[in-house]
Amino acid sequence: MKTITIGKTLISVLSGDITAWTGDIIVNAANSGLLGGNGVDGAIHRIGGPEIMEQCKEIRKLQGGCPPGHAVITGAGNLDAKHVIHTVGPIWEGGGRGEAQTLADCYRSSLQLANEVGARSIAFPNISTGIYGYPKSPACDVALKAVSEFLREDRQDNRLEQIDFVCFESDNTDLYVQWLEHYV
Ligand code: ADP
Repeated sequence: MKTITIGKTLISVLSGDITAWTGDIIVNAANSGLLGGNGVDGAIHRIGGPEIMEQCKEIRKLQGGCPPGHAVITGAGNLDAKHVIHTVGPIWEGGGRGEAQTLADCYRSSLQLANEVGARSIAFPNISTGIYGYPKSPACDVALKAVSEFLREDRQDNRLEQIDFVCFESDNTDLYVQWLEHYV
């Protein structure tokens, strides 16, 4: 299954590069320093251009970075989106340090922030499953659970009609397609 609908929101699993996605919000798997890095973070800053980093630096000045589980928002520079939401996933340390909760918080805080700016569409990468080492199958489960719980709350403020999980690696695509039907 590649799509499900919860309420008025279509959730889809896509394969590819999130920097090529078109819509309102691209989510970045950032690090606490907000100064860029490798993986999807590097790609977003490379393709998005320097404007995004300038805004990240402003946020650093104001609040000294972004703790794991939280999210901040900037413009999207040259990306074909209105904003980038930078969220900081947990570094996997074996699972006993609240990693699942922190990862769920990333999805939740990103969805909240997206709604605050009236977004209708959002694309998520597979947060923490690269350099941060979160095992892919449990990360997929946490992501789908967090998003579906958010949508099932009786929220008056939800404007999101489209939530895309953009999987860069084919094993992640397979996992999301397998898990999606459990959240119908
Ligand atoms: P983290 O530090 O949160 O683990 P990474 O960027 O290392 O962040 O990896 C997070 C996920 O993003 C991984 O599944 C990786 O395959 C994926 N990824 C890397 N580049 C891209 C991209 N251009 N578009 C979408 N996903 C990407």
